[in-house]
Amino acid sequence: MRKFNFSAGPCTLPLEVLQEAQAEFVDFNGTGMSLIEMSHRSSTYDAVHMEAMALARSVFGAPDDFSVLFLGGGATLQFAMIPMNVLRPGQRGAYVVSGEWSSKALDDGSHHGDLYAAWDGKSVDYKRMPTTDEIEIGPNTRYLHVTSNETIGGIRFNDFPLVDVPLIGDMSSDYMSRSIPWERFDLVYGGAQKNLGPAGVDITFVRNSVLEETNQDLGAYLRYDIHAAKNSMYNTPPVFPIYMVGKVLAWMEAQGGLPVIESLAAQKSSLVYEAIDASDGFYFSPVDPASRSHMNVVFRLPSEALDGEFLAEAGRRNMSGLKGYRTAGGVRASLYNAMPVEGVQALVELMADFQSANA
Ligand SMILES: *Cc1c(COP(=O)(O)O)cnc(C)c1O
Repeated sequence: MRKFNFSAGPCTLPLEVLQEAQAEFVDFNGTGMSLIEMSHRSSTYDAVHMEAMALARSVFGAPDDFSVLFLGGGATLQFAMIPMNVLRPGQRGAYVVSGEWSSKALDDGSHHGDLYAAWDGKSVDYKRMPTTDEIEIGPNTRYLHVTSNETIGGIRFNDFPLVDVPLIGDMSSDYMSRSIPWERFDLVYGGAQKNLGPAGVDITFVRNSVLEETNQDLGAYLRYDIHAAKNSMYNTPPVFPIYMVGKVLAWMEAQGGLPVIESLAAQKSSLVYEAIDASDGFYFSPVDPASRSHMNVVFRLPSEALDGEFLAEAGRRNMSGLKGYRTAGGVRASLYNAMPVEGVQALVELMADFQSANA
């Protein structure tokens, strides 16, 4: 029996997609072999690859002047590749430090460029995102890096900052669950494993004018311009994750595309926040309501012992992946695109029952 899987990543995927992949796995479309056994230069794989790329662009509504890249190394490799490729001598990168992931992006990128924190949420315990006027952009700044959703802290930008430099966005944990103001961005990236497929592929959208100016004094795999010129087939791409991402994107399109997915995300997360707000403090969310994530809902119970009992009861009710991040504790319910409303309803019912039994 399939569980309601609230894991923060890798995440739950649509059952239809898993079943389709299972049916095609041994003999792909009558070719007599699995897709993962055939040449990535074959016309069969090429069609899968180009279809996934086209869907990534259309589902997310990326304008024509952006290239789509499928890269290895996860979002983590992008932390380094961004300053390596984008910064020219004398330029600096600004970062909004809003929690664990943005802080990693800044630390890791600092090996490859002159980066600084344009805002650090430490003074507000990383409980909210900054407003535009709190962000301090210094001279010679090439870009402002933002993390649209902090997966561990459970906060998100409701509105992206409106600043004088282009934005670069880590969207790993709310990728293609929301529309974005493309005109403000030069680059958007994220690992697939939180909303879009299995681990093993990062999807980066980069503005073509940026590609023309990227650093060419880098090893081939580290160069955005090479990946773009070769449609992400400069070397052997991660064929299986790309194939799965294509299927998830087609599934998303069949659900009604981004507008439907986005409103479902708002609806699903509201169900849990309403349950928290209606609990008279039994469930406590540390997050500022204006920055509440639509993807990762974090909350605590009155004691650690009750956290544990709550998680055990969730397990008995066929729900998994609800334990909070190892340093944060409590509960974290990740409500990615493939989490059905029924899963969220089951969680909300558990919250009500557990409170009546234990308050
Ligand atoms: C998970 C995550 C990452 C790291 O992704 P990998 O693909 O594992 O490298 C980076 N940023 C955010 C916001 C994440 O949630």
